[in-house]
Amino acid sequence: MENQSIISHMSSVFVIAMIISYILTPYARRLACRLGAIDVPKDNRRVHEKPIPILGGIAIYVSFIVTIVIFAAFSKNMNLSRGFKGILLGATLILVVGIVDDIKQVPAGYKLAVQILAASIAVYNGVIINFIKFPLANTEGGLVFLCRGLHAEQNAIIQASLHGVKIEGATIYVTAQPCSVCAKMIINSGIKRLVYAGDYPDELAIQMLRESGIIIEKVMI
Ligand SMILES: [Zn+2]
Repeated sequence: MENQSIISHMSSVFVIAMIISYILTPYARRLACRLGAIDVPKDNRRVHEKPIPILGGIAIYVSFIVTIVIFAAFSKNMNLSRGFKGILLGATLILVVGIVDDIKQVPAGYKLAVQILAASIAVYNGVIINFIKFPLANTEGGLVFLCRGLHAEQNAIIQASLHGVKIEGATIYVTAQPCSVCAKMIINSGIKRLVYAGDYPDELAIQMLRESGIIIEKVMI
């Protein structure tokens, strides 16, 4: 997806979620008053001076779910990934404990246990954070500009140049799939075969490597 369409897509998701939570918040407030989920400023930790209805998280959670349903309905691919379902299940668990905690206090230890369980559900369903990527930098390897290091592929090509090692027609072995920048360097350096093990979320890189006719092999380690 081009940056422009990512920005407009993200903006519309943000605006719709904001409108829905804006509409739902008064209802959450009424529900909180009915259930007695009100925070009274009984100690110095509270910054508010008068009793405040809580349960606002319900409005945010419902707007999140409704926004997903709306965008899933308009998208060509209605299937939510396993990882995303894991996140939804974990988030629902956190919401339930949050509601109970708002109505009658839940001890910190229980809340921590539920948070660990919720995170474990997401991890069990394949959610692993192995990189942090700026969403608009979709082709440049995320935070690469803030990093003083180089990707291994770039370093290997530079070292070959430094030591006068010819790499035209060579095979490059890398742990993870190259990013777009590395893919361009691999193509231009005349490397003919790429062997990698792990995935990297950069489809443009694979597309460019394929178009350039480089032999791509993925191995299991
Ligand atoms: Zn790279």
